[in-house]
Amino acid sequence: MIDYTPLYQSLEGTPLEHWLDPLPAALEQRMETARKHGDLPRWQACLELLPTVQQPSVDLQDSVTVGRVGELTEDDQARLEQALRGLHPWRKGPFDLFGIHIDTEWHSDWKWQRVAPHLSLEGKRVLDVGCGNGYYMWRMWQAGAQQVIGVDPNLLFMTQFEAVSRYLPDAPVWLLPLTLEDLPEPTGGFDTVFSMGVFYHRRSPIDHLLQLKACLARGGELVLETLVIEGDEDTCLMPQDRYAQMRNVWFLPSVAMLERMLSRAGFINIRCVDLNRTSTEEQRTTDWMRFQSLPDFLDPENPALTCEGHPAPLRATLIAELP
Ligand code: SAH
Repeated sequence: MIDYTPLYQSLEGTPLEHWLDPLPAALEQRMETARKHGDLPRWQACLELLPTVQQPSVDLQDSVTVGRVGELTEDDQARLEQALRGLHPWRKGPFDLFGIHIDTEWHSDWKWQRVAPHLSLEGKRVLDVGCGNGYYMWRMWQAGAQQVIGVDPNLLFMTQFEAVSRYLPDAPVWLLPLTLEDLPEPTGGFDTVFSMGVFYHRRSPIDHLLQLKACLARGGELVLETLVIEGDEDTCLMPQDRYAQMRNVWFLPSVAMLERMLSRAGFINIRCVDLNRTSTEEQRTTDWMRFQSLPDFLDPENPALTCEGHPAPLRATLIAELP
């Protein structure tokens, strides 16, 4: 269980000070339901295996690298690997821990490389909605953010985050195992809010944009990354059933329609900073994510289509501001 005491202390005197009252109870309630999750004890047992290391070397410049080969004994190295492998599947990354390279399903570093040049996070209070195991949060902190808070209800991802943060205990980086909707209101007060890979899972896309907007301070910035399709401002795909084998996909608008949605939700200065067709090098099965992945979800005859016949995954990143 993450010790949130330093987070609470850091909220004093900030626009999020009013969280001090409801947040501990919200987290306690969440952990109470979490304890009923059948796999959580096994994942938590992996954390027990993690070797203790005082002040390991850290390099977050172009990767998430903690410790080097030789900083651990062979025994500890083996225990670390056993612990990390116990937290399969690793989707977002990669991570390098004491020479163990966690080759995740996604090359999240590639997305970060495409998006980071358009951001200015220096001194910012950042919220990462749907933060997964927190991969991007470490990169955001390195990019100068003063504090990074992520929300994601997935308990395996929370445990993966705990494993990494064990070696970065003083970082102002926090994962709350909550949904965006669970956050105590009002949520406003963040300078930058990220929603990456979440929009197309939402049944009410405009409500999602309004919820993200409510998290921002005046003049704050939203970074929205989602699946899109080609087309004009009146084009949107709502799959009848699955999309690239995913069940819970709702709206895939064109970039032009997404811009209109953001505008109607009250954002200004809206621009698309990246448009990228997901390659089977960026998302694939690896030794650390042994289930099926993008190559299995595309039409084997025509990789421009998903196996259901939809346009293959195309992702856009838009930045928009709150007036
Ligand atoms: N942001 C990461 C992960 C995207 S996967 C990236 O871009 O790679 C989408 C994540 O959103 C999942 O980890 C899922 O658990 C989380 N999620 C789904 N619904 C959510 C909600 N309502 N609030 C917060 N997170 C949510």
